[in-house]
Amino acid sequence: MADPFTIPKRAMAIFAHPDDVDFGCSGTLGSWIRTAGTHVTYCVITSGQKGTHDPKMTPELMAETREREQRAAGEAIGVKEFVFLGHQDGELESTMELRGEVCRVIREHRPEVVFTNDPWAHYQVHPDHRVAGWSGLDGVVAARDHLFFPEQLTGGLKHHRVARVLLFGTRDPNIWFDISGSLDGKIAALRAHKSQVGGRRGFAERMRWWAKNTGATWNLAAAEAFRYIELA
Ligand SMILES: [Zn+2]
Repeated sequence: MADPFTIPKRAMAIFAHPDDVDFGCSGTLGSWIRTAGTHVTYCVITSGQKGTHDPKMTPELMAETREREQRAAGEAIGVKEFVFLGHQDGELESTMELRGEVCRVIREHRPEVVFTNDPWAHYQVHPDHRVAGWSGLDGVVAARDHLFFPEQLTGGLKHHRVARVLLFGTRDPNIWFDISGSLDGKIAALRAHKSQVGGRRGFAERMRWWAKNTGATWNLAAAEAFRYIELA
């Protein structure tokens, strides 16, 4: 069966922490970049300041480390642009201010497709993942009409309609993408998050098993699965 999903020229991932994108969708993004030259922007909402068990680590140093790691991970698969909003890890709240920030990033970078955390995922315990998903979706809705955050629309910035959204970390997928050609890139990207996955034994094997298991339903050797939403 032909794949009815047209690969976009521009895509964006909006997510809570450095590394969410690499567990969630960097196989699909890597495959689009390789095969279609898709231009990809990452919008990273927090800087993962609390992602450490080292009692000597400070939030500031952790932020610096994790932003650097996310940049390296993105560059490993050919991502061109990175926006770090710098919010505090673990403390995200759904505010109009955050919605406006995400809306502005969408209007500036003009993606056709947006990936974000699935805020409806059952038993999603991390508050940042829920808030990032809401902010991604609410930002998409706000970006499309000129009367939302009209103060942004000066100096040539225009409203922007995102037509398609893919939610990662979902329990309820309705679309699968073959990542067998980009799985090595996804694993390289994940490994760039040294402060998070460095030293985990059998990590690459687990990631390969996960991709294989996700693909099995559709007879794909390796896949990522998403909840796909088309916006009218
Ligand atoms: Zn996360």
